[in-house]
Amino acid sequence: MKQRKIILSEKEIPEKWYNIVADMPNKPLPPLHPATKEPIGPDALAPLFPMELIKQEVTPDKWVEIPDEVRNIYSIWRPTPLYRAYGLEKALDTPAKIYYKYEGTSPSGSHKPNTSVPQAYYNKQEGIKRITTETGAGQWGSALAFACNHFDIQCEVYMVKLSYEHKPYRKIMMNTWGAKVFPSPSNATEIGRKILAKNPDTTGSLGIAISEAVGEAAANADTKYALGSVLNHVKLHQTIIGQEAVAQMAKAGDMPDIVIAPFGGGSNFAGLAFPFLRLNFEEGRNIRCIASEPTSCPKLTRGVFRYDYGDSVGMTPLLPMYTLGHNFVPAPIHAGGLRYHGAGVIVSQLLKDKLIEAVAHDNIEVFEAGVTFARAEGIIPAPEANHGIATAIAEAKKCKEEGVSKTILFNLCGHGNFDMKAYEDYFAGNIVKHELTKEEINASLAQLDTPEIAI
Ligand SMILES: *Cc1c(COP(=O)(O)O)cnc(C)c1O
Repeated sequence: MKQRKIILSEKEIPEKWYNIVADMPNKPLPPLHPATKEPIGPDALAPLFPMELIKQEVTPDKWVEIPDEVRNIYSIWRPTPLYRAYGLEKALDTPAKIYYKYEGTSPSGSHKPNTSVPQAYYNKQEGIKRITTETGAGQWGSALAFACNHFDIQCEVYMVKLSYEHKPYRKIMMNTWGAKVFPSPSNATEIGRKILAKNPDTTGSLGIAISEAVGEAAANADTKYALGSVLNHVKLHQTIIGQEAVAQMAKAGDMPDIVIAPFGGGSNFAGLAFPFLRLNFEEGRNIRCIASEPTSCPKLTRGVFRYDYGDSVGMTPLLPMYTLGHNFVPAPIHAGGLRYHGAGVIVSQLLKDKLIEAVAHDNIEVFEAGVTFARAEGIIPAPEANHGIATAIAEAKKCKEEGVSKTILFNLCGHGNFDMKAYEDYFAGNIVKHELTKEEINASLAQLDTPEIAI
């Protein structure tokens, strides 16, 4: 029997997270105060996040210790398996070797508990009673609900209205772990009421939901906010994925030429790719790391690199990022987790420095890829994950055309068992190919009055 699954023991759960900033040739530019536009220190984040996470946000240290209690909870589903995709290789008739790291084995079904658990842990350490957040596809809300429940913290989730309507079972999942869930924009906050008054039929966006959750945390001392993507500490926590994958590829006697992950704000991409980029930095390897985004929200491939707000009303610090403009509201695609206007600071700097690459796929292509994968490998992927699969398939086809064998590794960052509505729409022919025009992108960028960055 050929070895399909490469597994590690619980003892091999990494003991440290990897901070790529320590190895970056150009460090990320500082965040700026939204009003004064002056660089801000870590203290400015204190109303929203516990001190330990703020420290992690700015730490120059290359390694950060994972608390024992966090590793202990990780062991519920970690280490996650790494698969050789024999079925997909055969279906594509490619000389490429394809592997995938599967993060769908977590209780909530994606990579997100890798960061929700340490975030809830540090909040608990600092006496916090309530955590607010936003969720796009429902993945982050579920992950945070799971983690807060473990530490007996009240969890309140603002869920993008489109997903709230598409994914009622994600909401019930959060309720099961004890969380309160609001459709965003909601009547529960002032910001939500304002947006609803202007545009009662809006399907919502991650940017709007973030504004609601941040507003609640800023206004209450016993309440903090938690973010499931974009920020440095989130990416830091996710590096547990890639560290395991490096060990698993070594166990398989192989090493990827290409590492691929879908891209929303950058956390699962960072999680898988950064530990391989470390090998590029330390050993002079040349592993290509590719981020896959939707053509309907193409900040990496068609956005600009400049300061922008993390939310849609301009409350957060200004961050140096690839962005489509904070007012950008993407088409209502099923990959809710990828409907974010910007990209994380570290990933943006890496892309600007050409240390990573990005590609975009349209809606039809990604569902074709997802169905091909499900029929070849069995697991039904989350719609977000289908973007990474589309890139992996494109690269494997290139190998076939060129008659070369490369080793491809991608992140299957979540299962799609709650996403049957998306697959139903695809099979019914209701998924439309959506490509933004130059004019649409320019119209959004023209609204930006945030500082530009000299290149
Ligand atoms: C949240 C999510 C994403 C997008 O967020 P990243 O921070 O870019 O990883 C992608 N896939 C799944 C399954 C998600 O839950």
